[in-house]
Amino acid sequence: MAEKRDYYEVLGVNRNATPEEIKKAYRKMAIKYHPDKNPGDKEAEEKFKEAAEAYAVLSDPDKKARYDQYGHAGVEGAGPDFSGGFGNLNDILNDLFSGAFGGSGFGGFGGFGGFGGGRQGQPQQRVYRGRDIRVRVKLTLEEIASGTEKEITIERSVPCKDCGGKGTKNSSDIKTCPGCNGTGQTARVTNSFLGQTVTYSTCQQCGGEGKIISNPCPTCSGTGLTRKRDTIKVKIPAGVEGGMQMTIQGEGHAAKNNGINGDLLVVIEEQQHPDFSRNGSDLYYTKIISLPEAILGADVEIPCIDGTYKVKVEPGTQSGTTVRLRGKGLPVLNSYSKGDLYVKFAVWIPKKLNRHEKELIESLKDSESFKPAPTKEDKSFFDKLKDLF
Ligand code: ZN
Repeated sequence: MAEKRDYYEVLGVNRNATPEEIKKAYRKMAIKYHPDKNPGDKEAEEKFKEAAEAYAVLSDPDKKARYDQYGHAGVEGAGPDFSGGFGNLNDILNDLFSGAFGGSGFGGFGGFGGFGGGRQGQPQQRVYRGRDIRVRVKLTLEEIASGTEKEITIERSVPCKDCGGKGTKNSSDIKTCPGCNGTGQTARVTNSFLGQTVTYSTCQQCGGEGKIISNPCPTCSGTGLTRKRDTIKVKIPAGVEGGMQMTIQGEGHAAKNNGINGDLLVVIEEQQHPDFSRNGSDLYYTKIISLPEAILGADVEIPCIDGTYKVKVEPGTQSGTTVRLRGKGLPVLNSYSKGDLYVKFAVWIPKKLNRHEKELIESLKDSESFKPAPTKEDKSFFDKLKDLF
């Protein structure tokens, strides 16, 4: 298990912070990391729990005193119990701050979730990375067979043109933060019965940036980022399958302070083909043949994705017979090999006959060859067909 972080550090407050400052710091954390605002984000959930635990101790004068003297050992098991869920965000906030805010409620905090990159939780890491963008692309079987190039239009954050991503027009307006001397962190030495420990916390003056902008760029309000609509050409190789994800590096959102761009994630979807079905790189096609073709044999044409193939129907072909055309399926992704095409013959039985045709069939009815007389092989073939039901 990871070592427990210092509770003051967790809330980003100073050791001699007032109860009001502790409350304020926790409110900030609760808004930012509440699981309702970060669904599925484990890191945010852990941060929320950690902050709630820290607040449970530091907001209680008794526990705080014990913690100040003995550290974590003094308040073991003092944290809140989350076994019943996290509670509604607004309830928690109303409960916590109703005194200070006259019980007016916190419905207006929707604006807090939107900003920042994926690394907001670690401000001491000063190279930021932009968020990824995920898009879905629907492909036809023909496009999958040949590979294709798609134009994808996205709206993404780009470095602000007016300030070059710096957040201000004049470099002289960017000053080293006096609170941390540009390190983004402040160090604190704590004495406990375990000895002296140094803990680092995010600098409160610059939020971990190490720099303070005195005259923010009006175009981007000092964020260094603006939104832009871009169309990107994406090459999709042959043989992809629905559900696959391609990563186009650096084509996601830009990060502030000219950090690293996020990625563009392209999720492949497949359009159902009217005639062919697919299993990996193999294709399946059903060819309907006439009764005379099945009896006498014939050459039939199979309209395939990359052309038409001639296939021989052997005399005496039973309905359900399948032939395999090697290498006529789809390309295997990142390989020169190809899958197979399986053609299943289905014999068309006419539904309406004229009198002449009817007489012909009648005359064959008692013919010896038309009486079913399956051989052993035929029987095992029909048994196989049975398995399809
Ligand atoms: Zn700007």
